[in-house]
Amino acid sequence: MTESNVRVRFAPSPTGPLHIGGVRTALYNYLFARQNGGKLIFRIEDTDSTRFVPGAEDYIIEAFNWLGIKFDEGVSFGGEYGPYRQSERKDIYKKYVQQLIDADKAYIAFDTPEELDKKRAEIENFQYDASTRMQMCNSLTLAKDEVEKRISEGHQYVVRFKIEPGRDVHVDDIIRGDVSINTSVLDDKVLFKSADQLPTYHLANIVDDHLMKITHVIRGEEWLPSAPLHVLLYEAFGWTDTMPRFAHLPLLLKPVGNGKLSKRDGDKLGFPVFPLEWHDPKSGDVSSGYREQGYLPQAVINFLALLGWNPGTDQEILSLDEMVKLFDLSKCSKAGARFDYVKAAWFNHQYLLKQDAMDWTPEFDKILRANGIQSTPEKEAQVVEMMKMKVIEYVDKENNKKKRNVSFVSDLWPLTKFFFVAPDVYDTEDKFVRKNWKKSENEEECTSTMMKQLLAIIEKVDDFSVDGLKAVVDAWAEESGARPWNAWRVALVGAGQGPDMYELSAFLGKEETMKRIESAISQLG
Ligand code: GLU
Repeated sequence: MTESNVRVRFAPSPTGPLHIGGVRTALYNYLFARQNGGKLIFRIEDTDSTRFVPGAEDYIIEAFNWLGIKFDEGVSFGGEYGPYRQSERKDIYKKYVQQLIDADKAYIAFDTPEELDKKRAEIENFQYDASTRMQMCNSLTLAKDEVEKRISEGHQYVVRFKIEPGRDVHVDDIIRGDVSINTSVLDDKVLFKSADQLPTYHLANIVDDHLMKITHVIRGEEWLPSAPLHVLLYEAFGWTDTMPRFAHLPLLLKPVGNGKLSKRDGDKLGFPVFPLEWHDPKSGDVSSGYREQGYLPQAVINFLALLGWNPGTDQEILSLDEMVKLFDLSKCSKAGARFDYVKAAWFNHQYLLKQDAMDWTPEFDKILRANGIQSTPEKEAQVVEMMKMKVIEYVDKENNKKKRNVSFVSDLWPLTKFFFVAPDVYDTEDKFVRKNWKKSENEEECTSTMMKQLLAIIEKVDDFSVDGLKAVVDAWAEESGARPWNAWRVALVGAGQGPDMYELSAFLGKEETMKRIESAISQLG
């Protein structure tokens, strides 16, 4: 891909953990930048000091690190347009605020919160705009020296953008087409607050898009209402030639019901809405993360990429390179994308299967250790190989019995316990055990008689591998008509689950296999 002038940004406000929708926004920016040979910028929009949450910025950086989304410039990445943290750009914004005031495109307003409340009570649906601004306390209604006096006396003020009513503003949106909004519905947005000497989101976001030469603003649909202001401020500053194009991405919707995806949905249905676990510094609450739940980053990326876009074919498994090739911003859907968390687990299953069994073992080993078991990566990988295609049964948060493929390494433990621990008591109430371990007056018909014969046979097997065992046992079964497999399973597993008996016995070794069969004979009779 050749270099281009495409420059996009992901510009979170560090007000908490990054929502999974924000991850999708960053991903689409990333795909767009890569496929155009452009640059992706990471900007921190931290001008609202009241909403600042310590740790949020580091969390966001760590999340993208884990996900493998790389930025070209920005906070922690550097670049020639920095600083990229807005709280470090105070002086820059002040200059631009002054420029608007001098050009009579913005004005200073002294209205106190009490005065504003009074107006709201007085005027129904009060809005600070062309219809009301001349009744308010601002530099349009006060004499010039009065304004100066108030400022020098330290009165707090805000700077408001003077929006002229009655004009249609057009936003050129790649996904939504021409979106037009009449300026009469807009209020005179606050651009700057004297109290903390900081600009608001509106001003900082737009000034930085200009200074950082942003060519495309790709962000969530919830920001669409801010787009006309973007256009108007670019005009007010005389930057129309470099106006970015917009793409407002579809909302992520609840898995069930109406409305947008929230953390509550995740809590209720049992899926994370954050990439990493988040420890709230204030409340101490812990919210689950995709990483800690056992998701692979590639699976999360693949799942998110298809929420709002698809390649137009049935292909669902896409590498990052393929996504870069196929992604088409103009083909993103306008309608919201339902958050199908069951599908997320399916993607993880697919990506786990792509891995080598050895890659599962660090995580699997941790789980085994937590259950008091010491094994080796080689043994663990063998178990993974035997069990990764099994289906697990589970009870979801709404108490429904469900089945799914092994989708997380942690799914393995309940499926594989018997590889590492012998059944201590055989459950004679278990249907499978009852059905496959028979007692009878006639010794000939007793399962234990057949199992004693099996013991005698396998004791003599020298090559205790799958093939070695199979050759000997199959020959005996053929000749004698014995069908030992289910009872054998009872002895080794204690239930109707697990892999092929030859595989399991070879894994356990001769000694352990015989021990379990002997123990079943003595317990079940
Ligand atoms: N700081 C805004 C946010 O938190 C950025 C919105 C935009 O991309 O313009 O998402």
